[in-house]
Amino acid sequence: MRVLGGPFLYLKPKTLEEAVSLLSLYGGQILAGGTDFYPALGERLPQGRIVDITALREIRSIVVEPEHVRIGGLTTWTEVIRTPLPRCFDGLKAAAREVGSVQIQNRGTVAGNLCNASPAADGVPPLLVLDAEVELASSAGKRRLPLAEFLAGNRKTLRRSDEILTAVLVSRDIENAASAFLKLGARCYLVISISMVAAIVKSDDSGTVVDARVAVGSCSATARRLPDLERDLVGLKAQPGIGAMVQPQHLTPLAPIDDVRATADYRRDASLTLVRRALEACVGAH
Ligand SMILES: Cc1cc2nc3c(=O)[nH]c(=O)nc-3n(C[C@H](O)[C@H](O)[C@H](O)COP(=O)(O)OP(=O)(O)OC[C@H]3O[C@@H](n4cnc5c(N)ncnc54)[C@H](O)[C@@H]3O)c2cc1C
Repeated sequence: MRVLGGPFLYLKPKTLEEAVSLLSLYGGQILAGGTDFYPALGERLPQGRIVDITALREIRSIVVEPEHVRIGGLTTWTEVIRTPLPRCFDGLKAAAREVGSVQIQNRGTVAGNLCNASPAADGVPPLLVLDAEVELASSAGKRRLPLAEFLAGNRKTLRRSDEILTAVLVSRDIENAASAFLKLGARCYLVISISMVAAIVKSDDSGTVVDARVAVGSCSATARRLPDLERDLVGLKAQPGIGAMVQPQHLTPLAPIDDVRATADYRRDASLTLVRRALEACVGAH
């Protein structure tokens, strides 16, 4: 372990065990890619201890297990893009390509995106439609939570201060389903979204929708699934034109706000179009 600074200001554990015991003994802020951590400091210096987790080999990389795809807690967006994954991850890969720039994708991690819990976090909608769970480790052991529960609000999660997000787990039961992710910003590149939509559509051999999941980000404190729409999609033919069935009332769970990027009305209107297009993209891919 590397310890820099007199009163243990910077800690760099080499194993998960060491990391969680440091967090339980001393506390501290977790540092991964730093792409949210450092900008949030502005001109200030970090306060208190920093626990840099980037040397924890055991939480690196993506592993396909019998039941789950395990996205390790240090997996970067670039690794998501480069790793061959089942079709239902196409939406997550598309989101990964939209996170900042290539440099940000090389450093920024999926776990950091989730723990930072921005309403505009690009990783959240595609992982919500994958029904992802997060695995959290502390010196007391490990626990799992559905991502939808873990994200408790704007910049709020259920992570306890001594816990490290060690993995994102996605069940393999929907892996052949088509998926899509669409993001709208004020420009095409390096932009915070005005709205973003992730969708997954699974159909049976006759081309009938048997499972549909849709989530919208940047239009509420945390990204939201659209359960009424998902229910109404089941039983329809998975064919071009399906987007026309989406109605404004399907977006009722959203609570968009006016801010510097867009008005609430514009967000609602744009989201309707994005949801329709995301569904078209899913069925077009059949
Ligand atoms: C120029 C720029 C452009 C960006 N563009 C986008 C964008 O388009 N879309 C988008 O969604 N984001 C964007 N971001 C934000 C950021 O890059 C992502 O959210 C990234 O995934 C954060 O990961 P990180 O590893 O850098 O997190 P860090 O900055 O290291 O950490 C972020 C937070 O999560 C905590 N944390 C990190 N890892 C863990 C863990 N394993 N367990 C527990 N807590 C942890 C940290 O303590 C901190 O509070 C951008 C950032 C920059 C600087």
